[in-house]
Amino acid sequence: MAALWTSADAIAATGGTSPCDWAANGVSIDTRSLRPGDLFVALKDVRDGHDFVAQALAQGAAAALVSRIPEGVSPEAPLLLVPDVLKGLEALGRAARARTAAKVVGVTGSVGKTSTKEMLRATLTGQGHVHAAEASYNNHWGVPLTLARMPADTDFAIIEIGMNHPGEIAPLARMADLDVAVITTVAPAHLFAFDGLEGIAQEKAAILDGLRPGGIAILPAGLDVSDILLAKATETGARAVTFAATGADWQIDRADWGAEASAVQAITPAGPRLFRVQSPGRHFAVNALAVLASAEALGADPALSAQGLGRWSPPAGRGQRERITTDPVADEGFELIDDAFNANPASMAASLDVLSILRPEDNVGRIRQGRRIAILGDMLELGPTELALHAEIAHHPAFASLAIVHCVGPRMKALHEALPQGRRGEWVETAAELLPRLRALVDAGDIVLVKGSKGIKVSLLVEALRKL
Ligand code: ATP
Repeated sequence: MAALWTSADAIAATGGTSPCDWAANGVSIDTRSLRPGDLFVALKDVRDGHDFVAQALAQGAAAALVSRIPEGVSPEAPLLLVPDVLKGLEALGRAARARTAAKVVGVTGSVGKTSTKEMLRATLTGQGHVHAAEASYNNHWGVPLTLARMPADTDFAIIEIGMNHPGEIAPLARMADLDVAVITTVAPAHLFAFDGLEGIAQEKAAILDGLRPGGIAILPAGLDVSDILLAKATETGARAVTFAATGADWQIDRADWGAEASAVQAITPAGPRLFRVQSPGRHFAVNALAVLASAEALGADPALSAQGLGRWSPPAGRGQRERITTDPVADEGFELIDDAFNANPASMAASLDVLSILRPEDNVGRIRQGRRIAILGDMLELGPTELALHAEIAHHPAFASLAIVHCVGPRMKALHEALPQGRRGEWVETAAELLPRLRALVDAGDIVLVKGSKGIKVSLLVEALRKL
């Protein structure tokens, strides 16, 4: 197998220097996951990667990308010396992109980036060599790292591009030099850093700055800010393909919204398309429209794409469903929906919709009918109107079908107080406080949704529920 990076290629890409020749098969930024033969990149994040270079080399790293010779490391060691490690990684990313004939799709949006990335991976797998990050590597180091890891024979690359602050998306999109750019949706998230929804839309639209000439933009229609996205397509000369709402290029014509899967017939400019999404919820079917539109824009085969999409299921923490057995003899248990990775008003609404269409186990013959229970943690980074956005959830129509709602976190107190008495469950400031009471909150036959922003750590409750 040809090396991913030879010292000569890496020197040509970065303008760095190296005391010796080496060849690396992978790129790593963390000694905990480093594999022998990787190029270790000494990034400075919470800790300075230079402190780990000696360890990386001892673990079998082929070389290390550094901006100085770290203490305890020989100047003769396989080091690629550059003035700035992050810039060096970016240069590797750009060079990796430039040397492939891959078709590259970039995915951004307020919610649904990772789900869409993974759907695209499933859709394109089997139609060529597919490259995408295993995790949500969507930031200033995640995008160049994903590109730097891209093998030269890649046919399709899927690059997730995120943002926390204005100005982040365009340079990352340019680095990826996109054939297709997807914006999943624009919704309140990270509002603290932006000028309302229009500001967020403008920032998301900046992904189009990274499109190659003749590139295609897959854009959500029917939003208040859709015009901003379309205007950007006109400004950049991108061909816009819209999805989601009635009247869009790709829209849902008919669908069977099952509890296990959605079967969808879509209207598209190239004729009708039939597909299945192996997880309930309209939001996933809408993401799937963007995915299939992107796959066709990349030149993939429509029938193989629909087949591939059918093999997708939601990643952990993003709506994954599990049956937890509490009494194996009586075959009793409950269903857990692990949605603890992220939350904002749009994904909260989508998850509550899903919960409302699932059927709790019918235990009538034995004890009782199972219940729909939600354990909801704070939605972070929503800015000055955060308490109102939390309280507003109480008006979501799905609440009518829930038995009880428990709230976790200081902001969720606003929802707790807005809930009608009958559905108001516990309120706790931290997830840890609910742990000792969890057993009493769940019965056999129930369906339990756990959702919240990562920082509020409702994932602790998911782990504890798995062990009940
Ligand atoms: P992050 O940047 O935090 O990784 P993300 O944009 O990658 O988030 P996902 O991880 O795909 O988003 O999904 C986060 C949550 O949003 C999950 O609960 C998922 O079910 C839900 N979700 C996915 N797509 C949509 C959508 N189109 N509309 C609303 N909710 C969605």
